[in-house]
Amino acid sequence: MIEVQEVLSSSLYAQQLKKLYHVGNVLGLPQDVLESLSIPERVLQVKISIKGDDGKIKTFLGWRSQHNSALGPYKGGVRYHPNVTQDEVIALSMIMTWKNSLLLLPYGGGKGGIKLEPRKLSKRELEEVSRKYVESINKYVGSEIDIPAPDVNTDSQVMAWFVDQYIKTTGKIDFASFTGKPIDLGGLAVREYSTGLGVATITKRASEKLLDGLNDKTVVIQGFGNLSYYAAVFLSQMGAKITGISDSKGAIYNPNGIDVQKVKEYKDKNGSVSEYPDAKKMTNDELLIQDCDILIPGAIENVITKYNAPKVKAKLIVEGANGPLTADADDVMKQRGVPVIPDILANSGGVVGSYIEWANNRMGQIMEEDEAKKLIISRMEKAFDEMYKEYNKLGDQDFRTSAMAIAVERVIKAMKARGGN
Ligand code: GLU
Repeated sequence: MIEVQEVLSSSLYAQQLKKLYHVGNVLGLPQDVLESLSIPERVLQVKISIKGDDGKIKTFLGWRSQHNSALGPYKGGVRYHPNVTQDEVIALSMIMTWKNSLLLLPYGGGKGGIKLEPRKLSKRELEEVSRKYVESINKYVGSEIDIPAPDVNTDSQVMAWFVDQYIKTTGKIDFASFTGKPIDLGGLAVREYSTGLGVATITKRASEKLLDGLNDKTVVIQGFGNLSYYAAVFLSQMGAKITGISDSKGAIYNPNGIDVQKVKEYKDKNGSVSEYPDAKKMTNDELLIQDCDILIPGAIENVITKYNAPKVKAKLIVEGANGPLTADADDVMKQRGVPVIPDILANSGGVVGSYIEWANNRMGQIMEEDEAKKLIISRMEKAFDEMYKEYNKLGDQDFRTSAMAIAVERVIKAMKARGGN
């Protein structure tokens, strides 16, 4: 018997369990079912040793967590980050189970990670680490088993190494085993920006329902990676005013608006946004509590906690990253009446894009970019409306609880239908 208290700490896994048990209480789900859902079906830990450019051995730890496969093969990204832990990867794989279920994708939830600082490795070293990682887990990966994709600090180049090494070591020429690949390897143009497009789409929808539209609304975005950059681009196109941006080195804020393209050019040239001249310089923590209509934490998890949640001034929060608000922060926002659109809906554009790529690869087709874009938008808007309906049905609950209720119930139904546990 696993008591939820046993794992209560500040870790992302603990936060996810709290959120799951809250949904369980609201829906009156039995304890045994919640216990079963708390535990991933399989977690692989691998040692990755390569010969570094200096001739010395470099050793890293990597993981792949496969949380639940009731609805289909495991699906989710692989991140490269110095703070990756097994606990974090398990939590992220659980988030993927709910995300894929909410979006009605034929997938379970998976996630991988390697504990490393990509900026400290040469391209050759990164390639070797990526290839060794896939080699170590290749028996448990495949288009009908587990389909990895990009996540924090991984991109189409990493996916190209993955798929090539997978083919070389298994003999299966199965391009659908990975998504987020370069276009020449069966990738889709839309996948590059689909997460950001999805964040912008959901932000617009939420603003129309909860504020008086998106036009001229000020938006602070924490982050400037693939997700946050494209979210900023699409939100600007939709009429919003981006007033804050950040990266791991620092944040910039200008209440009169920031030119996203100029910041991008600046970052490409100087390596960071933090010294951008036409804005006030501040820390990431300070950025989160600046005046704005909409706040999009789009970088890493656990950045809004019970300590800074009371100071957040935004009228609407959209979770771009996975798990940026802790369960306690959820409670504070609920008390304060600040709506939070959850990660499992807000950032699902990436995996919906991945789904289109996977389905295309399996059918030997290539969907036109415009059609793929429309499909992502309509799938996400439908999920938003479904969440909203559940929100009205549940009464005194927040949007995360509403979205998770739909997702968790779907997973439980599939588990029951399969006669499993
Ligand atoms: N890493 C992304 C996420 O967290 C995308 C996963 C995928 O495309 O499989 O949703």
